[in-house]
Formats: sequence, C-alpha cells, structure tokens
Amino acid sequence: MKVSWLIPILGVLMGNCGAIDREAFSFTKYDLQVRIEPEQQRLAVRGRITLRNDSPAAQKNLALQISSSLGWRAVQAEGKGVQFVTQAYTSDIDHTGALSEAIVTLPAAVAPKGTVELEVGYEGIVPLDATRLTRIGAGEQEAKHSDWDVIDKPFTAVRGIGYVAWYPVATEAASLSDRNSVFETIGRWKTRQFDSSMRVAFQVTQGQRLWFSGEAAAKTSNEAAESPTSSFEIARFGNRVPTFAIASYEELEDSGSVSVAYLPGSENAAKEYALAADLASTFVGDWFGPPRKRAEVLQLDDAGAAPFEIGSALLTPLSTKTDARLNQMTAVHQLTHAARPSPRLWIEEGLAHWAQAAYREQLDGRAAAIQFMSLHGRGVREVERAIAAARDSDTAARNSLINTGIPELYRGKALFVWWMLRDMIGDAAFGKVVMAYRADQDKDPAYVQRLVATETRRDLEWFFDDWVYRDRGLPDFRVESVFPRQTVRGAYVVTVTVENLGGAGAEVPLTLKVEGGEVTGRLEVRAKSRNSVRIETPSTPQQVIINDGSVPESDVSNNTFRVDLPSK
Ligand SMILES: [Zn+2]
Repeated sequence: MKVSWLIPILGVLMGNCGAIDREAFSFTKYDLQVRIEPEQQRLAVRGRITLRNDSPAAQKNLALQISSSLGWRAVQAEGKGVQFVTQAYTSDIDHTGALSEAIVTLPAAVAPKGTVELEVGYEGIVPLDATRLTRIGAGEQEAKHSDWDVIDKPFTAVRGIGYVAWYPVATEAASLSDRNSVFETIGRWKTRQFDSSMRVAFQVTQGQRLWFSGEAAAKTSNEAAESPTSSFEIARFGNRVPTFAIASYEELEDSGSVSVAYLPGSENAAKEYALAADLASTFVGDWFGPPRKRAEVLQLDDAGAAPFEIGSALLTPLSTKTDARLNQMTAVHQLTHAARPSPRLWIEEGLAHWAQAAYREQLDGRAAAIQFMSLHGRGVREVERAIAAARDSDTAARNSLINTGIPELYRGKALFVWWMLRDMIGDAAFGKVVMAYRADQDKDPAYVQRLVATETRRDLEWFFDDWVYRDRGLPDFRVESVFPRQTVRGAYVVTVTVENLGGAGAEVPLTLKVEGGEVTGRLEVRAKSRNSVRIETPSTPQQVIINDGSVPESDVSNNTFRVDLPSK
C-alpha cells in the first residue's frame, strides 16, 4: 500500500510550517512608502508594520504574506535583520491564487497582547492576473472583468485584500472551490484589522493623477524628495479595502452631488452619471439627510469591468449606453453610502440596497420593488441552505448578520430585514430611525433595536434575534387552514391559520382573494409556531396567499390555499 508511506513524508514536509498560527497576530499599523513605476508594472514597498499577538499563546514565529507576483527583500526587527524563509502559499485571497509568504523567526517570543514592530521591504510586478478564477473554470474574459486589478502604463487600479495583497497580510489558505471560505477568511481578517490604521506615501514615476481610498495627509520630512510624493491616511480600516488608482483622469467642473473622475473621451458618459446622481439625491436626502462626504466616481478603463465600491467611492466603467434608470439606481446606492456610513456591513449595505428598492417603489410601485428584491432573494436562499447543510453551530454563529462576510447575507438578507422593519413600523417611524442613526454612536449590536424601541415603543427583540443577532435560517410559511363562515347579513368571516415551519419569525403580508377583488392583511408568525387572523369581507372568498415576496422564505410552494365554501 502506497498510502502508508506517503502520509509520513508529507507530514515531515509540512511539519515545519504546520505549527504556525497564521492568524495569531493582528496588523495594527502600517506605515508604507510605495513606489510605483507604471511603465514597468512595478511596485516597490519599504515600510514599518506593527503587529499584536491576539492569540492566547506566546508566538516565536509569524507569517507575512504578499501577492505571489511580489517578492520579499528584507525583514528587520529593531534595525537588525531577522531570520525568515519564503515559500509560495496557495490561497485565493489574492488574484494570482497564491501568496509569497515569509515565515519570520522573531528574536524573542511575543507574549499574548504583546506587540512587535517590523521593517519590511518587498517588490515585484502587478500584472493583470485572473488565475484564481480561470483555474476553477471561469472564462478568460469574464474572469478579467472581475479581477481587473493591474499596474500598467495607461491605467492602474489595485484593490487590497481579497484582490491583491499589495500590503502584508496573514491568513489561513482559502479556496474559491468553497466560495464561502474565501469570504469567511477575508471577513476574519477584516474583523481583526477593524481598528487598524494605515499611512501610505506614494511615489509615482509618471505624471498621472493618483487616487487612494484614504484621507490626504501632510507630508513628513523623512519622505524622499527626489520625485513628488502623495501621502494618505486611513485612521481606521473598518470594512474598507485600501485601494489605489493611477490614470489620466479628468474631472467634471460643476458636477453637483457627486465628483466624477473620467478617462479622456468619456466626458458625456460622466455628465450622464452626474445628472442621474442629481435626480437621485433628492430621494436619498429625504430619507437620510445631507451627505456626510462627497461621493466620488472613478472610471475603470475596462468597459466590462465589475464595479467596486469603497464606502461612497465607486470604481466603475462609464458609458453613454447605460440606461438612465440604471444610473439612477446606482447613484441611489452610492449616495446612501455618502449620507449614512456605518462600520457595520449589514447596516451600510442593507440600507443602500433598501434605498434602491424603495426608489423602485416610488417610481413603479410595490410590485416593482419586490421584483427588484427577488433578484437578491435567490442568493439569500442558496446561502442559507448551504449554512443549514453545514449543520454546525459555529458556521451559523459566524454568519449572523452582525458577523457575516458573505455578500448575499450582508447585502441581500439585510435588504429584506430593513424592508420588513419598515413594513412593521411604518414609514414615519422608519424614517426617524434611519435619520437618527449615527455611525459614531453605534457601539453595540443592539443599537438599531434601541432606536426602533425609542421611536415605536415596540420591543422587536424577537425579530432582531431571529434575523440580525443570530442566523436562524429563513421562515417557511404554510397556510394550515382557512375557515369561512357566513354571517347573518350575508358577509363572510374568514379565519386563516398560518404555520411557520422555519427557524425565523416574521410579520408576513397575507392576501385574501375574493370575488371581484382582494383584502390584504398582515400576520406575525413566530418561528416554529402558528397564528390565526380573522378577515371580514362582503364578497365570496376564493383563495388565500401568504407572503407577497417581501419576506425571504425557504419554500414558497405551500403558500396558497383555495377556499372551499361549505355547501348550503
Ligand atoms: Zn454598497
């Protein structure tokens, strides 16, 4: 049997690095000097990083990872070189599908909560590379529209973790063959680095405009003066991914609610987007008040590129062929981010998607809004099914709305949560809640629940428990029985009993179709329980339909019930 000797050999080979806890340290502070040579596709970085041991054990070794197209040049501690070995580490958190990993042996072990400061140097190229997508079967073109990060002479745009590890990170390997493992790994990284900061001084050998997803900072004297540097600061990462772009950007002069940096030849497309943003800004202002920050658009040079957002900044292709309505929907999302930032993804993204649905509703009615929401509903169902199949409480706990890094949940499921909340408490109270929300006061997960309680005097703890604080899956409503009874005056009283077979409760809309029309109502049905409602109607009842699509549900095949009238 070959297997018996294979295992020990693998054990010896991996034993060296198997002992390292890659996620023991948090990277609390980055201070980087980044030199970019677009014509060579080159990136060279020197800098200082501060790491804190957040594990319960003392650590003598640590891992530093950068994109596999970059290479380590130096690692020093207290001015002295430290011992490190480099290796390729397969992981899909980077577009190349691999990382250059340095396993560093520290001069002394770092105790739990202790910190260590390292000076690092690395360099290499950042070419267009979609290996991680093509190797799981994506088409070349499609893959490049998704992984568009590149340093190149005409155009440079590079996103951070999850796309290009252009600054050192450390995570356990993640593979796109299990898609959620990539999101969970990046989610864990973002959680650990939530309060971390970054300072970057860029030096670019080409006179194009540089954009970075941080605040412009004053220069310090020790920065090299040979060619001009631009310094930026990110005081706190939150969920944002540090991103830079370098291009021959031009800017619209008076562009109203959004600043648009466009590439030569795209002025008309830029104007169209700015116009759409102006139209959307009234709607967003009515719900959320004035913007906290001016929204920014940066054009991507690949017309098929998938847009990417960092708070209220949007990297996107621009085209005069884009439908005006679509531009408005995009602008509603972006301007909601500008008006209502939040450190919590389910709030920030949930509200922006909710605003899009509400905008559809204002233009075309509730059915159109629910149609828009149904585009997200499918993804929510699929992800919840996968989590339920995993059958471990850990996966469920990691994927409560407050913790999850899975987009279908913090976008799609959160959209439904905000929509259900508004349906439950009404427009006036909902408007006060979202207007009162302040990112800097959002210190604990129950903050939104308290805002709701203040405005409505309703305790919706059960709702937040089922949908936000925990992942209890989705409801599954079943019309259990319908009993029509004719009154002496010839009208009907219809008693409808609905059972919820699922793990999450909801207040669900209910429609009673009657001869010549319909009567609608709402019914709160908690998880694993049933509730009844009595509806009076002068016409003959025909059919009961539970859920108009505004509550995400695992199974909608059991939601209608034909009313059988007792024979007279
Ligand atoms: Zn967004």
